[in-house]
Amino acid sequence: MTEIRTYWQNFIGGKWVDGARGRRIAVENPATAEPIAEIARAEVEDVDRAVAAARRSFEAGALTGLRPAERAALMFRIAAELERLTEEVALAECLDNGKRLSDARAQAPEAARYFTYYGGLADKLEGRMIPLGDGYVDYTIPAPYGVSAQVVPWNYPISLAARSLSCALATGNSVVIKSPELSPLSVCLLAEACERAGVPDGAVNVICGYGSDAGAALVAHPGVDHIVFTGSVATGRAILHAAAERIVPCVMELGGKSAGIVYPDADLDRAVASTAVGIYSNAGQICSAASRLLVHRSIHDEVVDRLVAQAKGLRIGPGIEDSDLTPLISARQLDRVEGYCLAGAQAGAVAATGGRRVPDRPGHFMQPTIFTGVTPDMTIAREEIFGPVLCVLPFDEPDEAIAIANGTDYGLVAGVYTRDLTLAHRTAERLVAGQVFVNEWFAGGVETPFGGTKRSGYGREKGQEALLNYVQTKNVAIRLTGAA
Ligand code: NAD
Repeated sequence: MTEIRTYWQNFIGGKWVDGARGRRIAVENPATAEPIAEIARAEVEDVDRAVAAARRSFEAGALTGLRPAERAALMFRIAAELERLTEEVALAECLDNGKRLSDARAQAPEAARYFTYYGGLADKLEGRMIPLGDGYVDYTIPAPYGVSAQVVPWNYPISLAARSLSCALATGNSVVIKSPELSPLSVCLLAEACERAGVPDGAVNVICGYGSDAGAALVAHPGVDHIVFTGSVATGRAILHAAAERIVPCVMELGGKSAGIVYPDADLDRAVASTAVGIYSNAGQICSAASRLLVHRSIHDEVVDRLVAQAKGLRIGPGIEDSDLTPLISARQLDRVEGYCLAGAQAGAVAATGGRRVPDRPGHFMQPTIFTGVTPDMTIAREEIFGPVLCVLPFDEPDEAIAIANGTDYGLVAGVYTRDLTLAHRTAERLVAGQVFVNEWFAGGVETPFGGTKRSGYGREKGQEALLNYVQTKNVAIRLTGAA
């Protein structure tokens, strides 16, 4: 299983098409830095076509005209088609994103799970009857926005695309997805699953282009009614400016600098293993990565020793070999991550292990890195590095730990390790984050609401709450007339 299609197209109006200007984007394997495929490059004309197709589909009631239970059935068919594409998706995610094979094999089932979960809710989205007294009937309708533009980042392309698309379809919106230019291939397979499942033409469109032209044109397009963006704060801000021009509602899923707090009574085996999963999965390129660990001073050195031993045991290599630590997405990302590490060392932090790229090998491999001697004001403790780099900070009192955890511009997730349930509850209450994990980083799933506070964004994806971002409440107030 190492052969991959070498040319991929955009999916617009139910057809597979080249870019309007015939240009292509080269897609690279981050484990080798060699090109593996090309994808049709969408530009402004393609954005126009995709939005027009989505608009036609919405106006024609292609999804809203289906009974909710039929929409659910359509979504279950998409899920089944995704399951069938598990190996193709795994290969695409291994080769264009660098994902570890076992994680890559989980991508299509995870994407499918979004469609079964939200498919199951498609016929349960109910309005309310509001009592206005004799002579009136009043009710609410959860109405779709229309055309939803969804801009997807490169770190979890099919899973994040499915996360937003499934909510949009469950609620009857038509969609244009802008897939990430660095790792777009699995999102084409999502479009393929939609096509095979019989999604009406134009209800789902997938285009791949650069953020600065196709992405910017999409979010500023007059035919777009709703935007879901997952990506960096800087791009989120630019998109919000474009959205503000036309008062378009947005869901913003942005970055993080999330902290786990290890209290002295914690199960240290669990805390260390969980932190390792939290910071080395996908080479640390996860918005909710466990990038800071706040450890009670009494156990600080022991925890650091265990973390270092764990890091030194990691097998670094290509995702296709199911390595523990896979490459970063690009040479640029590797420079960025290494740059943060060099700046951290210059500021006085100490690399207990790692701190540099893996020398003398092709591809974009970064060493697993653990910094001690980090103070909360250091750049490496405040900014999202988006690599396998963990900052460990000591604390003495819970108040201090909570203040450090809350002391960045971000607020996506946080973690607590303790056997004391009261302390866990009290800490979780005071952590400013959209989700708090207790004793297991990444606990939760498709069912649990996820999203940011502060610069990590707003709106929620996952869980039943997510659907509320994809509908607008319409109220119908009726004065009954005529004979009683
Ligand atoms: P990015 O912001 O550089 O790009 C994300 C997407 O936006 C890409 O598809 C890109 O082409 C597009 N884009 C870029 N400029 C644009 C513009 N002006 N208008 C419209 N679209 C534009 O982010 P990235 O580097 O791909 O992803 C990493 C970031 O994503 C990290 O900050 C990470 O924390 C965040 N992220 C957040 C979540 C979440 O759910 N909160 C999940 C995954 C990643």
